[in-house]
Amino acid sequence: MSSQEISKATQCIWAGEESSLIQGATQVPVVHSVGFGYKDVDEWMQVASGEKPGHIYGRNTNPTVDAFENKIRQLEDAEAATSAATGMGIISSMLYALLSPGKRVVSVKDTYGGTNVLFNEFLPKFNIDVSLCNTTDHDEIESEIAKGCDLVYLESPTNPTTKVMDIARLSAAAKRIGATVVVDNTFATPINQQPLSLGADLVLHSATKFLGGHADALGGVICGEKQLIEKIYHYREINGATLHPMAAYLILRGMKTLALRIDRQNQNAIKIAHFLEGHKAVEQVFYPGLESHSGHAIAKQQMCGFGGMLSFMIKGNNFNDVRKFVPRLRYAHAAANLGAVETTIGPPVTTSHVECTAEERAAAGIPESLIRYSTGIEDSNDLIADLDQALNVFA
Ligand SMILES: *Cc1c(COP(=O)(O)O)cnc(C)c1O
Repeated sequence: MSSQEISKATQCIWAGEESSLIQGATQVPVVHSVGFGYKDVDEWMQVASGEKPGHIYGRNTNPTVDAFENKIRQLEDAEAATSAATGMGIISSMLYALLSPGKRVVSVKDTYGGTNVLFNEFLPKFNIDVSLCNTTDHDEIESEIAKGCDLVYLESPTNPTTKVMDIARLSAAAKRIGATVVVDNTFATPINQQPLSLGADLVLHSATKFLGGHADALGGVICGEKQLIEKIYHYREINGATLHPMAAYLILRGMKTLALRIDRQNQNAIKIAHFLEGHKAVEQVFYPGLESHSGHAIAKQQMCGFGGMLSFMIKGNNFNDVRKFVPRLRYAHAAANLGAVETTIGPPVTTSHVECTAEERAAAGIPESLIRYSTGIEDSNDLIADLDQALNVFA
């Protein structure tokens, strides 16, 4: 059966594990061994040279990590996958593996904060030119691509105002000039969006977020054509940002319920977005599933669900109101992570945009009273009641 014929929910459970199971175990073992021994020196040689499958040294490959990579590879319907210790580990490995002095990147202003630091601070040191466009200005992005570039880096929906980019349109523009297209699919997950089917060459995740889903393990992964993945793997095995087998196990275990969790988070988030949109203390709600959202039409085209991430602005745009509101919520961790089974809130002022001044945040379109809300899998009625009582501090 080809992976396309099997539903994502079934793939979440079964895909990718078989070759890592041993001695009848029904669960993937956590293989902590750093080395993999061979008494037969010829066989050792064959594995070391890549002629025969197997493992040599834990910084390079590991059976538990393999199972995780295989599962996400099948969910993204990709030829190959490789992982790293964190999302940033895979993003930086990809950039350093594929780029060299004189190359040019086209991306947008609203990428994840860490990615933005690579674009603004580190790549220019290597004489790599990075053009960051206004995230929803597709004409501007297309014209920057048409000037010539090597890599187009997209992220949709974005953090924290859930901006949406047309992946098919921008991938087509990149194809016309032979550039490689990379999409950070962390917010959507393969359950809601499959960038490779929209024309992207590579799709990556911070597995720390929705893939793992329990906020207890860091990880990153990238999927795509074998020849590109091999280049990225080759750099990652040398830079040493290897995914730990225990983290791989936790993420793999979390992924068994990915389809269930995302389905619930999709449902919860749309109900909460509608509730917030109707609340008198709320100025604006940013959620791609709302008809009022500027990227709703594109999101409807390219996503099968709108995801668990939303943000909203308290009326008056005063950070003091965030101070009052946050401690009143009973069912939300106030923390920097997202994508977990528990609802988590993080005001951009203290999370993604903590290093910016108020003026810089305003220029980036981030209101001071914005609250990022990562919807968990709790009962939506309880979450709405909780938000309601917390917002009533402004009544
Ligand atoms: C968290 C995040 C990252 C970085 O992942 P880490 O695992 O924290 O290194 C990258 N992209 C997006 C969209 C994220 O939310």
